[in-house]
Amino acid sequence: MTGTVELRDLEVALEAERQRAAQRLVDADAEFEEIVAATRNANADDEHDPEGSTIAYERARVATLRAKAVGSLAVIEGQLARLRRGTHISCERCGAEIVLERIAAVPTTRHCIACVTTRTTRLSRGD
Ligand SMILES: [Zn+2]
Repeated sequence: MTGTVELRDLEVALEAERQRAAQRLVDADAEFEEIVAATRNANADDEHDPEGSTIAYERARVATLRAKAVGSLAVIEGQLARLRRGTHISCERCGAEIVLERIAAVPTTRHCIACVTTRTTRLSRGD
């Protein structure tokens, strides 16, 4: 380990992260199916079913998990595609190139270190 991130290492790291996000999506879908099946078995047309609110909460929770997984997948796949084309990944805020070390550490990042570290002060100015 020299501390220098090679493009190939980064591609491997992103690919691993992509597979984790894809697995989260599969898990969320499976969990959602379970909730739907449970709802069917529990006579969900009874509005006074005490489990009704739990089911609604569970559905919302799984839907959020799924949306996050889909978002992560989209970001990671975009970054992989750019890497494979040899295009730099640039910060969505300032357009600066995001260093490979940062992408290796936080694969779903869309901002450079400078923007992330100044975000808290910018927020107070309404940026
Ligand atoms: Zn930036």
